[in-house]
Amino acid sequence: MPSPIGHALAGFATAWAADLVPGDRASRIPPATASLYVRAGNGLTLTCAALAMAPDLDLLMAGHRTLTHSIGATFFVALFAAAIAVSVRRPVLRVALTCAAAYASHLLLDWLGADSSRPYGLRALWPFSDTYYISGLDIFRQTARRYITTPTVIGQNLLAVAQEIAILGPIAIALWLVRVKALARLAAEMSGGDHPTQ
Ligand SMILES: [Zn+2]
Repeated sequence: MPSPIGHALAGFATAWAADLVPGDRASRIPPATASLYVRAGNGLTLTCAALAMAPDLDLLMAGHRTLTHSIGATFFVALFAAAIAVSVRRPVLRVALTCAAAYASHLLLDWLGADSSRPYGLRALWPFSDTYYISGLDIFRQTARRYITTPTVIGQNLLAVAQEIAILGPIAIALWLVRVKALARLAAEMSGGDHPTQ
């Protein structure tokens, strides 16, 4: 399974990819003088990074990669995000789907990653199925979350993180660049629409 750093990168990438989906994106357009935090998508982008890491909170409990690593949990994330979006007056469907996609990115990365402990994979289709799924592609290395201060484990985890950054970093940067252009174009269209020719 990938490290929290790899999962967070996927969360950022998901938030920026979601901004490319047509629809009500007005709340995602930053003012010209905005800080980097606002331009990066502020709280929603940060929430997506946190949600992409969140399923591994089950490491604190028994039964890793079970209920939190499932479409059932993803559905609850969507519902919860929708409720928050309603209360803060944001586009409900967009926020709910963006948050669900960020959470689901964790499932995708774990599915693509190596797993050295049985049962291999994750119960991705819970509550519809208790089967564990894994791709077997081992695109991401196994990270160790025990004895993390020993030299062997430090080396193993550094190598895994470096590989995650090498794979996911360029994807996130590309999405960021495309998103900046897309939102700038959208802002120009909207300001044009706000000031019709007289
Ligand atoms: Zn996981």
